Amino acid sequence: MRDVIVVGAGGGGPVAAKELAERGLDVLLLEAGPRHARPREEWTHYENDANHPLTGFFRFGPADRAKSAWFRETPQSSFVMQLSGVGGTTQHYYANSPRAYPGVFSGYSGPDAGAYDTGHRFPFRYAELVPYYEWVEATLPVRTAAMGTKEEVYFQGCETLGIPVQTALTTTGDSYRPQQNAILQPGGHAGRTADPRLLVFPRSTGCTFCGHCAQGCMQPVRAPRNQFAKRSTDNSYVPMALTADAWSPGGRAAELITDAFVTRIHTEAGAATGVTWRTGATGESHREDARVVVLSGGCTESPRLWHNSGLPDPNGWVGRGLTDHHLDFVVGVFDRDVGNSRGAGSAARCDFPGRGALEQAGLPPALQALVLSTSDSGIRGAYANGRGLQGPWDGPTGRVFGPELAELMQDGGHDRLLNVLVFTDDDVEPGNRILPSAFPADAHGPVPKV
Ligand SMILES: Cc1cc2nc3c(=O)[nH]c(=O)nc-3n(C[C@H](O)[C@H](O)[C@H](O)COP(=O)(O)OP(=O)(O)OC[C@H]3O[C@@H](n4cnc5c(N)ncnc54)[C@H](O)[C@@H]3O)c2cc1C
Repeated sequence: MRDVIVVGAGGGGPVAAKELAERGLDVLLLEAGPRHARPREEWTHYENDANHPLTGFFRFGPADRAKSAWFRETPQSSFVMQLSGVGGTTQHYYANSPRAYPGVFSGYSGPDAGAYDTGHRFPFRYAELVPYYEWVEATLPVRTAAMGTKEEVYFQGCETLGIPVQTALTTTGDSYRPQQNAILQPGGHAGRTADPRLLVFPRSTGCTFCGHCAQGCMQPVRAPRNQFAKRSTDNSYVPMALTADAWSPGGRAAELITDAFVTRIHTEAGAATGVTWRTGATGESHREDARVVVLSGGCTESPRLWHNSGLPDPNGWVGRGLTDHHLDFVVGVFDRDVGNSRGAGSAARCDFPGRGALEQAGLPPALQALVLSTSDSGIRGAYANGRGLQGPWDGPTGRVFGPELAELMQDGGHDRLLNVLVFTDDDVEPGNRILPSAFPADAHGPVPKV
């Protein structure tokens, strides 16, 4: 009998595993996907190789890329950007770690109190969460993002908006600021050169400005795993959990099993008693008991597993309330290099609490071409759908395609582009939910309908 079984080694699970292993509990961490133990042999910076949703090494599917990705029913025109494997979706995340606006918590009465989705406030006070923020910020660690050329240009634009620079961690009004992120600060030659001979640990430490956060961080070359710059959980909390006996007095190393898809949570008298999982390579089932089960399979698989385990859903809210987080890109074309491809994926932002945010986003070439050619604001030179901004330029705004797209991207053009990622505020939408699908079940049970 284990003390704790944690289901899922993504953003959340390893945090629980590390904290509990540090305190001497017997923790088993089960992950459906693979563990990329040697990223520099297993990963590349080729974006299609990394991020193709069906065949990339970052996808929601098994380790063997010849096998198909795991199916989700998405009846609306949509795409669920989640990954399997140790690190989960943090393997390609941007490591930005802003604190939530205090106005989304109960008991808040600041001047911006009415700006938020007040129907769905967190049922506790912001001040109660702050010690946990501080603990995670110290552990990852979270620091003010390293700045480069694209941030400098972005801030020049921000200065024209008439809003202040935000220097505190807590945001309650319109403002702009460097991101707080979980990317180790550049040290030595890092961030100062593109010479690969110098971008080698320990001559270089932290972020080398390679610009490939979305393809998984494996920099600087020769750095040990826990010194890779981006603190995705595969580089931070998982190594800490697996070595807790070595660094924490009284700690006990957590055990990690990958290729282990949990198919059922067992309960007795209303309390979890253990889980059953399936080993993908062999198809074998295993059962293990525990005093506590932590369900951390992400916002699609956790409700799927809950439903498939026949657990209660008395008010119908299991899997409901996924937030809407509409996004679009505004792309500016400059007559000089603004460093689009260099540095952290997103290191600067403007906040408009209750309404949304404008994030600076640096993109590698394929993602940049994708962003230029996906929008619902029409196709430049072909048609406008009335949604695009009107401005002092010729023709409609909107997607760029064909020769114009090629021209924008070639001969260093990619580094003359500056992206602003526009986010609407997150509102809880009861109709956005996960249900068991009527499609045929897979080897892990009924599949989720998103
Ligand atoms: C492009 C992109 C950029 C992002 N950038 C940021 C950012 O800058 N800052 C930020 O805070 N957030 C960012 N996010 C969001 C962030 O990555 C997620 O919110 C976070 O990873 C969610 O953590 P999670 O543990 O809930 O799920 P996940 O990280 O998705 O992990 C779930 C894990 O559970 C495993 N699992 C699922 N079901 C089972 C099962 N039945 N049995 C065993 N294992 C299972 C999965 O394989 C997966 O590894 C970004 C997301 C994307 C897509």
